[in-house]
Amino acid sequence: MSRPLTATVNLDAILSNYRYAKQLHPTCHAFAVVKSNAYGHGAVRVATFLDEEADAFAVATIEEALELREAGIESPVMLLEGVFEDSEWELCQQHGFWAAVENEVQLHGLLERDIQIEKIFVKLDSGMHRLGVTKEVADDYVHALRASGKVGEVLLMTHFSCADDLADLTTMKQLTYFEQARQLIGEIGSSVANSAAIMKWSVPENGWIRPGIMLYGISPFSELSGAELGLTPAMTLTSKVISVRSLVAGDRVGYGLGYQAEEDHELGTIAIGYGDGYPRSAPAGTPLLINGKPAELAGRVSMDMITAKFSHTDQSLAIGDEVVLWGEGMPVEKVAYWSDTIGYELVTRMTTRPKLVYT
Ligand code: PLP
Repeated sequence: MSRPLTATVNLDAILSNYRYAKQLHPTCHAFAVVKSNAYGHGAVRVATFLDEEADAFAVATIEEALELREAGIESPVMLLEGVFEDSEWELCQQHGFWAAVENEVQLHGLLERDIQIEKIFVKLDSGMHRLGVTKEVADDYVHALRASGKVGEVLLMTHFSCADDLADLTTMKQLTYFEQARQLIGEIGSSVANSAAIMKWSVPENGWIRPGIMLYGISPFSELSGAELGLTPAMTLTSKVISVRSLVAGDRVGYGLGYQAEEDHELGTIAIGYGDGYPRSAPAGTPLLINGKPAELAGRVSMDMITAKFSHTDQSLAIGDEVVLWGEGMPVEKVAYWSDTIGYELVTRMTTRPKLVYT
């Protein structure tokens, strides 16, 4: 028997979350964002399942885009950050990739080549100050790209810094700046919305929305779970109890003996650790389920194991008991909250050790 750690991915859930995003903005096209191995869900399997329905996929690197093409994915694939080296432009032409252009090196690399690219998204820095250019520079880029005859369609994109905070009006300011840029440039297609904006902010009509985290049924908002937003969580991470003992009050557990039992209780050792991607920052008290019943972390997270307190009078722990770390019955957002991180990080940083299985 192999180590019982499995991430079960429900592909129908991802498809229904994609449809939900489109349903919220019926005039828009939608990228399915599958960068970083589809946020840990397996980019090739996810994209293969969505290929017939998705308008396009979006990734961060040329390697991620090539992986999709090599797996037979036929939909357009967009490089959200553009190219990192000039030589990638030829690959974009060869494989029909679309790309963002966010700086002058990318722009000139494209303009200097004898190539054709179907769609280029000029990235506007509307306030995040991470990538992109001002509206005046964006106007120059758009005109240069259109005049070059090397691009089928030039569009304008931007990315929000605070869309996950519903009380922060920065998103409205960014949208206003985006509209000012569109007025300066004139008629141009657009792409602005990540998951938070798709679900809670106004999005320009007829554009390209870019759902990422919501496809996987995970909330971008700290105060709302995926289920509360009408999303279906896609991944359930399960393992098993591999050792059991009874602690008496005062017993200590794990590296540094950092946990001390305040009362007698059972302790289960479970096959998952930070070597699998479980957050080492998860403190004692972090919730999980054993045989469907609430349990909580007790002791430091090790590389291959965690230990959990189980105190139910009607049931004893046994080797082989089923554990849910997150997913069905245990929102990943809740585990993220305890671990002082976000659901995005928990699913994305899973290593290759958990077996990915698909339903
Ligand atoms: N658009 C861009 C440019 C991104 O970098 C990302 C992810 O970081 C997304 C869209 C998807 O964002 P989210 O996962 O919040 O939907």
